[in-house]
Amino acid sequence: MTQSTKQLQKASLWTRKFASGLCPCDSGRFAKECCYTKDNYWKKDPSDIILQGEPTGFSHQKCIFMPHKNCSTKISKEHYFSRSILEQFDWNTATLDGFPWITKNGNKPSINSMTANILCERHNNALSHLDNSAGDVFRELKLIGNWKNTREFYITSGADFERWMLKTLCGTIAAKLIKENVNIINTYEIKNQWLDILVGNENFSGTMGLYIEGGIGQEFGFEDKFSFSPLFNDSNRKQVIGASFIMAGLMFHLIMENNASHIPEHWRNPFRTLVFNLPNKRKRGILFSW
Ligand SMILES: [Zn+2]
Ligand SMILES: [Zn+2]
Repeated sequence: MTQSTKQLQKASLWTRKFASGLCPCDSGRFAKECCYTKDNYWKKDPSDIILQGEPTGFSHQKCIFMPHKNCSTKISKEHYFSRSILEQFDWNTATLDGFPWITKNGNKPSINSMTANILCERHNNALSHLDNSAGDVFRELKLIGNWKNTREFYITSGADFERWMLKTLCGTIAAKLIKENVNIINTYEIKNQWLDILVGNENFSGTMGLYIEGGIGQEFGFEDKFSFSPLFNDSNRKQVIGASFIMAGLMFHLIMENNASHIPEHWRNPFRTLVFNLPNKRKRGILFSW
């Protein structure tokens, strides 16, 4: 189980009113029996990443978890960008920035084709919680962005969302989508520590983790836009140290360096409740629990 190293925050007055009904995490249980604690904190635990059955002792050469020697013999075709998220964009109008090398001749690939053999079935199944969790966050963002008359408040695990970002980064590295330049396809490193973080054996430490950029609020509108770009250690692009994602109009950055010195002040980690003030004076919130 991943232990959060980040301090909890007392529930704000605004969010306390949601503690009396069903839990805004969608578990179907009452909030007070689920994510709302007796001393007025919202707390959603990260998913346990559980590998079914006995350890296998087997390393699949194509699975990114090869060093863990716990693979199944079958490889699964995995979407390097979660299908649960891609499907929420209007694929006809969505813009796909940041990876020109897969948009051959300016044509968008089909969602079905955006797969690679990067995880064995065993690891793919275990990590699918992270994809589902991120998919739920995007569903909420889309509802908010379209000013739908949706629930006011939603709670999710920030730690799961953060690990989903890392999983995506590892997937794009393993699928060799990241290039040094147009011609050179590099073999970038997926660090063992990253794999340990993904399965919950280790935590993001130091400056590592997920940041959100800028102020959230007034003018939020869902954009059918999905952008991904790797972050490099320097202009030589020899080492991948993270990634930037623009999704649904929000800008996220994953940093995988322990003591990064170049993080701009307006990047926030951890971020907690994103509050959106819709033009019709309605207020919506998504709380990321850490
Ligand atoms: Zn809950
Ligand atoms: Zn595996």
